[in-house]
Amino acid sequence: MEEAIRLREEILRLQESLLEHRRQLFALQQSCLHEFQETPLARTCVKCLLTESLYY
Ligand SMILES: [Zn+2]
Repeated sequence: MEEAIRLREEILRLQESLLEHRRQLFALQQSCLHEFQETPLARTCVKCLLTESLYY
């Protein structure tokens, strides 16, 4: 039981951390001067890892 509570708290903590990191990555990608590296299917920025599909 205590183990379950501990695990649930850890999951909540990680989910909040995940959201925060996603926000930070999004902000970073918004302000990046992209340098794209292309593959046949997508292009990825080597600086911020933003990926855009080349399928339209
Ligand atoms: Zn970028």
